[in-house]
Amino acid sequence: MRILITGGAGFIGSHLAERCLSEGWTVSILDDLSTGSFGNVLHLQGHPRFSCRIDTVFNSNTVCEMVDDADLVFHFAAAVGVRLLVESPVRTIETNVRGTEVVLAAVAKKSKPVFLASTSEVYGKSTDFPFREDSDLLLGPTSRSRWGYACSKILDEFLGLAYYAEKKVPVSVVRFFNTVGTRQTGRYGMVLPNFVRQALANEPITVHGDGEQSRCFAYVGDVVEALILLVKSGKSVGEIVNIGNDEEISINALASLVIDVTGSRSNIIHLSYDDAYRPGFEDILRRIPCLEKLQRLTGYRPTTPLRKIVELMVADHSAVALN
Ligand code: UDP
Repeated sequence: MRILITGGAGFIGSHLAERCLSEGWTVSILDDLSTGSFGNVLHLQGHPRFSCRIDTVFNSNTVCEMVDDADLVFHFAAAVGVRLLVESPVRTIETNVRGTEVVLAAVAKKSKPVFLASTSEVYGKSTDFPFREDSDLLLGPTSRSRWGYACSKILDEFLGLAYYAEKKVPVSVVRFFNTVGTRQTGRYGMVLPNFVRQALANEPITVHGDGEQSRCFAYVGDVVEALILLVKSGKSVGEIVNIGNDEEISINALASLVIDVTGSRSNIIHLSYDDAYRPGFEDILRRIPCLEKLQRLTGYRPTTPLRKIVELMVADHSAVALN
Protein backbone atom coordinates (compact mmCIF):
# COMPACT_ATOMS: atom_id res chain seq x y z
CA MET A 1 0.00 0.00 0.00
CA ARG A 2 1.21 3.54 -0.79
CA ILE A 3 0.69 6.04 2.01
CA LEU A 4 0.87 9.83 1.86
CA ILE A 5 1.36 11.64 5.17
CA THR A 6 1.00 15.41 5.09
CA GLY A 7 2.87 16.81 8.07
CA GLY A 8 4.98 13.64 7.98
CA ALA A 9 8.02 15.39 9.46
CA GLY A 10 6.04 16.35 12.53
CA PHE A 11 5.99 14.56 15.84
CA ILE A 12 3.10 12.12 15.28
CA GLY A 13 3.55 12.05 11.48
CA SER A 14 7.17 10.91 11.68
CA HIS A 15 6.33 8.09 14.10
CA LEU A 16 3.50 7.04 11.81
CA ALA A 17 5.82 7.10 8.77
CA GLU A 18 8.20 4.75 10.57
CA ARG A 19 5.38 2.42 11.60
CA CYS A 20 3.90 2.31 8.06
CA LEU A 21 7.32 1.40 6.67
CA SER A 22 7.53 -1.45 9.17
CA GLU A 23 4.23 -2.74 7.72
CA GLY A 24 5.96 -3.01 4.34
CA TRP A 25 4.05 -0.02 2.95
CA THR A 26 5.52 2.74 0.78
CA VAL A 27 5.52 6.15 2.47
CA SER A 28 5.68 9.64 0.96
CA ILE A 29 5.60 12.63 3.22
CA LEU A 30 4.78 16.24 2.47
CA ASP A 31 5.92 18.83 4.98
CA ASP A 32 6.82 22.52 4.88
CA LEU A 33 9.02 22.13 8.00
CA SER A 34 7.18 24.99 9.72
CA THR A 35 6.62 23.10 12.96
CA GLY A 36 7.95 19.73 11.81
CA SER A 37 11.65 19.11 11.47
CA PHE A 38 13.83 17.35 8.96
CA GLY A 39 15.63 15.76 11.91
CA ASN A 40 12.47 13.79 12.71
CA VAL A 41 12.78 11.81 9.48
CA LEU A 42 16.53 11.94 8.90
CA HIS A 43 16.85 8.29 9.92
CA LEU A 44 14.32 7.32 7.21
CA GLN A 45 16.24 8.98 4.37
CA GLY A 46 17.70 6.37 2.04
CA HIS A 47 14.98 3.85 2.90
CA PRO A 48 13.91 2.38 -0.48
CA ARG A 49 10.19 2.83 0.30
CA PHE A 50 10.44 6.34 1.78
CA SER A 51 10.34 9.72 0.09
CA CYS A 52 10.01 13.23 1.40
CA ARG A 53 8.87 16.40 -0.36
CA ILE A 54 9.31 19.82 1.20
CA ASP A 55 6.34 21.93 0.17
CA THR A 56 3.17 23.30 1.67
CA VAL A 57 -0.30 21.75 1.66
CA PHE A 58 -1.52 25.03 0.18
CA ASN A 59 0.17 24.00 -3.08
CA SER A 60 -2.69 22.22 -4.74
CA ASN A 61 -0.59 20.91 -7.66
CA THR A 62 1.83 19.18 -5.33
CA VAL A 63 -0.97 17.78 -3.19
CA CYS A 64 -2.91 16.46 -6.24
CA GLU A 65 0.22 14.84 -7.67
CA MET A 66 1.07 13.14 -4.37
CA VAL A 67 -2.53 12.06 -3.73
CA ASP A 68 -2.62 10.48 -7.22
CA ASP A 69 0.39 8.36 -6.29
CA ALA A 70 -1.11 7.23 -2.96
CA ASP A 71 -3.69 4.63 -1.92
CA LEU A 72 -4.41 6.28 1.44
CA VAL A 73 -3.76 9.71 2.91
CA PHE A 74 -3.14 10.84 6.48
CA HIS A 75 -3.68 14.59 6.62
CA PHE A 76 -1.64 15.65 9.65
CA ALA A 77 -0.19 18.95 8.39
CA ALA A 78 -1.53 21.57 10.79
CA ALA A 79 -0.55 24.38 13.09
CA VAL A 80 -0.53 22.72 16.51
CA GLY A 81 -0.02 23.71 20.10
CA VAL A 82 -1.73 26.18 22.35
CA ARG A 83 1.29 28.51 22.46
CA LEU A 84 1.49 28.75 18.66
CA LEU A 85 -2.21 29.46 18.53
CA VAL A 86 -1.98 32.23 21.11
CA GLU A 87 1.04 33.77 19.37
CA SER A 88 0.01 33.26 15.71
CA PRO A 89 -3.77 32.92 15.48
CA VAL A 90 -3.98 33.91 11.80
CA ARG A 91 -1.40 31.34 10.77
CA THR A 92 -3.09 28.64 12.86
CA ILE A 93 -6.58 29.17 11.52
CA GLU A 94 -5.50 29.60 7.90
CA THR A 95 -3.17 26.59 7.89
CA ASN A 96 -5.76 24.31 9.42
CA VAL A 97 -8.70 25.38 7.32
CA ARG A 98 -7.06 25.97 3.93
CA GLY A 99 -4.78 22.94 4.12
CA THR A 100 -7.72 20.63 4.76
CA GLU A 101 -9.71 22.20 1.92
CA VAL A 102 -6.88 21.49 -0.52
CA VAL A 103 -6.36 17.91 0.67
CA LEU A 104 -10.07 17.05 0.64
CA ALA A 105 -10.54 18.48 -2.85
CA ALA A 106 -7.58 16.37 -4.05
CA VAL A 107 -8.69 13.07 -2.46
CA ALA A 108 -12.27 13.64 -3.68
CA LYS A 109 -11.16 13.53 -7.33
CA LYS A 110 -10.20 9.86 -7.04
CA SER A 111 -12.20 9.05 -3.90
CA LYS A 112 -9.06 8.08 -1.96
CA PRO A 113 -9.42 7.21 1.72
CA VAL A 114 -8.21 9.96 4.04
CA PHE A 115 -7.68 10.20 7.79
CA LEU A 116 -8.09 13.77 9.08
CA ALA A 117 -6.23 14.62 12.28
CA SER A 118 -8.43 16.48 14.72
CA THR A 119 -7.94 17.17 18.40
CA SER A 120 -9.46 16.76 21.85
CA GLU A 121 -9.34 20.57 21.98
CA VAL A 122 -12.68 20.48 20.10
CA TYR A 123 -14.43 19.29 23.30
CA GLY A 124 -13.39 22.63 24.79
CA LYS A 125 -14.45 23.15 28.39
CA SER A 126 -17.20 20.54 28.40
CA THR A 127 -17.56 18.80 31.78
CA ASP A 128 -19.39 15.81 30.40
CA PHE A 129 -16.66 13.26 31.24
CA PRO A 130 -15.38 11.14 29.63
CA PHE A 131 -15.57 12.87 26.26
CA ARG A 132 -17.48 10.75 23.75
CA GLU A 133 -17.30 11.34 20.02
CA ASP A 134 -20.99 12.29 19.96
CA SER A 135 -20.81 14.62 23.01
CA ASP A 136 -21.78 18.27 22.71
CA LEU A 137 -18.81 20.64 22.30
CA LEU A 138 -18.45 23.66 24.57
CA LEU A 139 -16.18 26.51 23.51
CA GLY A 140 -15.49 29.98 24.87
CA PRO A 141 -16.09 33.28 23.08
CA THR A 142 -14.37 34.25 19.82
CA SER A 143 -12.66 37.12 21.67
CA ARG A 144 -10.47 34.49 23.38
CA SER A 145 -7.96 33.34 20.78
CA ARG A 146 -7.49 29.88 22.30
CA TRP A 147 -10.83 28.70 20.92
CA GLY A 148 -9.79 29.53 17.35
CA TYR A 149 -7.74 26.34 17.23
CA ALA A 150 -10.72 24.21 18.25
CA CYS A 151 -12.95 26.03 15.77
CA SER A 152 -10.50 25.52 12.91
CA LYS A 153 -10.42 21.79 13.63
CA ILE A 154 -14.20 21.63 14.04
CA LEU A 155 -14.55 23.19 10.60
CA ASP A 156 -12.10 20.57 9.23
CA GLU A 157 -14.26 17.85 10.77
CA PHE A 158 -17.48 19.29 9.33
CA LEU A 159 -15.90 19.60 5.90
CA GLY A 160 -14.48 16.06 6.01
CA LEU A 161 -17.80 14.57 7.08
CA ALA A 162 -19.59 16.63 4.43
CA TYR A 163 -17.30 15.18 1.74
CA TYR A 164 -18.19 11.74 3.06
CA ALA A 165 -21.94 12.39 3.14
CA GLU A 166 -22.24 14.31 -0.10
CA LYS A 167 -19.47 12.94 -2.31
CA LYS A 168 -18.95 9.49 -0.73
CA VAL A 169 -15.25 10.20 -0.08
CA PRO A 170 -13.98 7.66 2.50
CA VAL A 171 -13.09 10.16 5.23
CA SER A 172 -12.19 9.15 8.81
CA VAL A 173 -11.73 11.73 11.56
CA VAL A 174 -9.38 10.96 14.44
CA ARG A 175 -9.36 13.13 17.55
CA PHE A 176 -5.97 12.98 19.20
CA PHE A 177 -5.84 13.62 22.93
CA ASN A 178 -2.60 14.77 24.57
CA THR A 179 0.03 12.72 22.77
CA VAL A 180 3.57 12.55 24.08
CA GLY A 181 6.83 10.77 23.39
CA THR A 182 10.24 10.95 21.86
CA ARG A 183 11.02 13.73 19.32
CA GLN A 184 8.30 15.97 20.72
CA THR A 185 9.45 19.54 21.05
CA GLY A 186 8.45 21.83 23.90
CA ARG A 187 8.82 24.85 21.62
CA TYR A 188 5.08 25.11 21.07
CA GLY A 189 4.19 24.91 24.73
CA MET A 190 3.62 21.18 25.21
CA VAL A 191 3.96 20.39 28.86
CA LEU A 192 5.85 17.10 29.08
CA PRO A 193 8.85 17.87 26.84
CA ASN A 194 9.16 21.18 28.69
CA PHE A 195 9.15 19.50 32.10
CA VAL A 196 11.68 16.88 30.98
CA ARG A 197 14.03 19.54 29.60
CA GLN A 198 13.70 21.67 32.74
CA ALA A 199 14.27 18.68 35.03
CA LEU A 200 17.35 17.51 33.15
CA ALA A 201 18.81 21.03 33.36
CA ASN A 202 17.90 21.22 37.08
CA GLU A 203 15.89 24.36 36.27
CA PRO A 204 12.60 25.20 37.99
CA ILE A 205 9.66 23.23 36.61
CA THR A 206 7.06 25.77 35.48
CA VAL A 207 3.54 24.64 36.35
CA HIS A 208 0.80 26.94 35.06
CA GLY A 209 -2.02 28.02 37.34
CA ASP A 210 -2.51 26.01 40.52
CA GLY A 211 -1.45 22.81 38.74
CA GLU A 212 -4.64 20.98 39.68
CA GLN A 213 -5.80 20.91 36.05
CA SER A 214 -5.45 17.41 34.63
CA ARG A 215 -4.81 15.63 31.36
CA CYS A 216 -4.49 12.06 30.06
CA PHE A 217 -1.25 11.43 28.17
CA ALA A 218 -0.95 8.80 25.45
CA TYR A 219 2.31 7.45 24.14
CA VAL A 220 2.86 8.26 20.47
CA GLY A 221 3.76 4.60 19.78
CA ASP A 222 0.33 3.56 21.07
CA VAL A 223 -1.37 6.28 19.07
CA VAL A 224 0.17 5.18 15.77
CA GLU A 225 -0.65 1.56 16.58
CA ALA A 226 -4.29 2.57 16.95
CA LEU A 227 -4.12 4.34 13.58
CA ILE A 228 -2.69 1.28 11.84
CA LEU A 229 -5.46 -0.88 13.32
CA LEU A 230 -8.12 1.61 12.21
CA VAL A 231 -6.71 1.52 8.66
CA LYS A 232 -6.72 -2.27 8.64
CA SER A 233 -10.22 -2.49 10.11
CA GLY A 234 -11.72 -0.23 7.44
CA LYS A 235 -14.40 0.54 10.02
CA SER A 236 -13.68 4.20 10.69
CA VAL A 237 -14.99 5.55 7.36
CA GLY A 238 -17.51 8.34 8.00
CA GLU A 239 -16.72 8.13 11.72
CA ILE A 240 -15.01 10.23 14.37
CA VAL A 241 -12.74 8.26 16.70
CA ASN A 242 -10.99 9.41 19.89
CA ILE A 243 -7.40 8.24 20.22
CA GLY A 244 -5.67 8.65 23.55
CA ASN A 245 -5.11 7.11 26.95
CA ASP A 246 -7.65 7.49 29.76
CA GLU A 247 -5.27 7.53 32.74
CA GLU A 248 -5.71 10.98 34.30
CA ILE A 249 -2.99 12.96 36.09
CA SER A 250 -2.81 16.50 37.45
CA ILE A 251 -0.07 18.77 36.13
CA ASN A 252 1.34 19.04 39.68
CA ALA A 253 1.59 15.24 39.87
CA LEU A 254 3.15 15.18 36.40
CA ALA A 255 5.85 17.62 37.54
CA SER A 256 6.59 15.44 40.60
CA LEU A 257 6.74 12.31 38.43
CA VAL A 258 9.26 13.93 36.08
CA ILE A 259 11.42 15.00 39.05
CA ASP A 260 11.23 11.49 40.45
CA VAL A 261 12.16 9.75 37.17
CA THR A 262 15.05 12.13 36.41
CA GLY A 263 16.32 12.43 40.00
CA SER A 264 16.44 16.16 39.28
CA ARG A 265 17.21 18.90 41.83
CA SER A 266 14.55 21.11 40.20
CA ASN A 267 11.89 22.71 42.33
CA ILE A 268 8.34 23.31 41.14
CA ILE A 269 7.17 26.88 40.61
CA HIS A 270 3.68 28.06 39.71
CA LEU A 271 3.24 30.65 36.94
CA SER A 272 -0.02 32.50 36.44
CA TYR A 273 -1.72 31.87 33.10
CA ASP A 274 -1.43 35.59 32.36
CA ASP A 275 2.36 35.32 32.67
CA ALA A 276 2.60 31.98 30.88
CA TYR A 277 0.42 32.92 27.91
CA ARG A 278 -1.51 36.20 27.49
CA PRO A 279 -3.88 38.02 29.83
CA GLY A 280 -7.30 36.40 29.69
CA PHE A 281 -6.00 32.94 28.75
CA GLU A 282 -8.57 30.28 29.58
CA ASP A 283 -7.29 26.78 30.41
CA ILE A 284 -9.16 23.50 30.17
CA LEU A 285 -9.40 22.00 33.65
CA ARG A 286 -9.95 18.34 32.80
CA ARG A 287 -9.83 16.30 29.65
CA ILE A 288 -10.58 12.58 29.58
CA PRO A 289 -11.28 10.52 26.46
CA CYS A 290 -13.89 7.83 26.16
CA LEU A 291 -12.04 5.04 24.33
CA GLU A 292 -14.97 2.65 23.90
CA LYS A 293 -15.35 3.37 20.20
CA LEU A 294 -11.66 2.86 19.46
CA GLN A 295 -11.78 -0.41 21.36
CA ARG A 296 -14.96 -1.52 19.62
CA LEU A 297 -13.53 -0.81 16.17
CA THR A 298 -10.03 -2.16 16.71
CA GLY A 299 -9.99 -4.14 19.96
CA TYR A 300 -7.10 -1.88 20.98
CA ARG A 301 -6.45 0.13 24.12
CA PRO A 302 -3.31 2.27 24.29
CA THR A 303 -1.65 1.31 27.57
CA THR A 304 1.98 2.44 27.87
CA PRO A 305 2.19 3.70 31.49
CA LEU A 306 3.10 7.34 32.00
CA ARG A 307 6.22 6.51 34.01
CA LYS A 308 7.53 4.43 31.11
CA ILE A 309 6.75 7.27 28.66
CA VAL A 310 8.68 9.74 30.81
CA GLU A 311 11.63 7.31 30.98
CA LEU A 312 11.65 7.03 27.17
CA MET A 313 11.53 10.81 26.79
CA VAL A 314 14.33 11.30 29.30
CA ALA A 315 16.51 8.80 27.41
CA ASP A 316 15.69 10.59 24.13
CA HIS A 317 16.53 14.06 25.50
CA SER A 318 19.77 12.77 27.02
CA ALA A 319 20.77 11.12 23.72
CA VAL A 320 20.05 14.34 21.78
CA ALA A 321 22.08 16.35 24.32
CA LEU A 322 25.06 14.00 23.83
CA ASN A 323 24.97 14.34 20.00
N1 UDP B 1 1.54 23.56 31.18
C1 UDP B 1 2.33 23.82 32.28
N2 UDP B 1 3.65 24.15 32.06
C2 UDP B 1 4.21 24.19 30.81
C3 UDP B 1 3.39 23.90 29.70
C4 UDP B 1 2.06 23.60 29.91
O1 UDP B 1 1.86 23.79 33.41
O2 UDP B 1 5.42 24.47 30.69
C5 UDP B 1 0.13 23.22 31.41
C6 UDP B 1 -0.87 23.93 30.49
O3 UDP B 1 -1.22 25.20 31.02
C7 UDP B 1 -2.03 22.94 30.51
C8 UDP B 1 -1.34 21.58 30.59
O4 UDP B 1 -0.03 21.83 31.10
O5 UDP B 1 -2.82 23.10 31.65
C9 UDP B 1 -1.21 20.88 29.25
O6 UDP B 1 -0.63 21.78 28.34
P1 UDP B 1 -0.24 21.41 26.84
O7 UDP B 1 0.08 22.68 26.14
O8 UDP B 1 0.78 20.33 26.83
O9 UDP B 1 -1.56 20.74 26.23
P2 UDP B 1 -3.08 21.24 26.18
O10 UDP B 1 -3.24 22.52 26.93
O11 UDP B 1 -3.36 21.34 24.75
O12 UDP B 1 -3.80 20.12 26.85
